[in-house]
Amino acid sequence: MEIYLDYNAGAPLRPEVREALMNFLSGEGANPSSVHRSGQRARRILEQARGQVGALIEAAAKNVVFTSGGTEANNLAIFGALRAQAGRRKVISSLIEHSSIINPLKAAEREGFNVKWLAPDHDGRIDIEQAIAALDENTALVTMALANSETGVIQDLAPLAAAAREVGALMHIDAAQALGRMRLSVKRLECDLMTLSGHKIGALAGIGALYVRDERRLCPLMFGGPQERGIRPGTQNLPGALSMGVAAEVLAKNLTNEINYVTFLAERLRSRLWNSVPGIKLNGPLFGRIPNTLNCVFPGVRGETMLLALDLEGVRVSMGSACAAGSIEPSHVLLAMGRSESEALSSLRLSLGPQLTVEQVDQAARIIVHVWRRLACVDTSHSGAWQ
Ligand SMILES: *Cc1c(COP(=O)(O)O)cnc(C)c1O
Repeated sequence: MEIYLDYNAGAPLRPEVREALMNFLSGEGANPSSVHRSGQRARRILEQARGQVGALIEAAAKNVVFTSGGTEANNLAIFGALRAQAGRRKVISSLIEHSSIINPLKAAEREGFNVKWLAPDHDGRIDIEQAIAALDENTALVTMALANSETGVIQDLAPLAAAAREVGALMHIDAAQALGRMRLSVKRLECDLMTLSGHKIGALAGIGALYVRDERRLCPLMFGGPQERGIRPGTQNLPGALSMGVAAEVLAKNLTNEINYVTFLAERLRSRLWNSVPGIKLNGPLFGRIPNTLNCVFPGVRGETMLLALDLEGVRVSMGSACAAGSIEPSHVLLAMGRSESEALSSLRLSLGPQLTVEQVDQAARIIVHVWRRLACVDTSHSGAWQ
């Protein structure tokens, strides 16, 4: 049996998405830019998906630009904004961003931009007052994730977006992990740019979108045809867009139920682990997180060893950060939050989603406790725990 607890790395395809894709793939293919009827049909599919994705964040369809994923949307937002904000040389971001924000910003630093890397507190929260204080007339862009993919911690970005607007800086929000895990509105957040990713919400990988409030304030990075209003030229990924549209449509209908269900599952898992693993700690606060994410320090074990042992038992979890060439580095997010190197290396991210059942979550809890006891060499002879 497989129990998938790695939704933050990529959610399994939703059944409604799979069905829509099957129907699509058994039909005739076409290019949405073609004039003939097949082309028009393809265009309708594309535009419907654009509307569905926009509706989930309270954006108009015309403000949604499809990309190849969250990474491309982040790169387009960052470099597109920096080119459009000519003369301004400063960017405000944080030390706990996704690699698809950190690495473009490091490249921008090599091009002479000045990046202010804000540090989080012990709970993984960015001090928004400090971010606002760093804004000035030289600031081109503020770029930050709404929900952190490793810890799930949510930042209070609305006041920062309002302050950015006052000095003429663009506000970009990476909502790849927040989408589908909390209610989102570009109207309420008043941001200029927002990144979305398909495979984090049960659509295909290789599709994403950038919300663009005002296209005059974003320069394209690629040049070609007029697709995506010229902001992102190239024949669109039609099955990808379709899959993201269907996932967004399902979420728009069920968001509250889904959030409640996942909150229930995660709280159930947490209370079972907390009852049976003495010394276990949550990385991040109990409240102010997206509900599906539990990033925990498991005392007395290496996270990597535990991840592999759990994998053998069918439970898929993550260390949070991607490992390069098999060597697992301590998470930059946890280190920035003040965790020691050994605490960071003993941490695992359990991220849940709507396709899990209560039975699977209970089974996962039993397996995790069992594996932890074995690896941490805990004497269980007196254990009167719930299992
Ligand atoms: C997954 C993720 C991305 C990258 O999205 P891809 O579609 O995988 O390229 C960017 N930002 C955050 C916060 C993410 O969780």
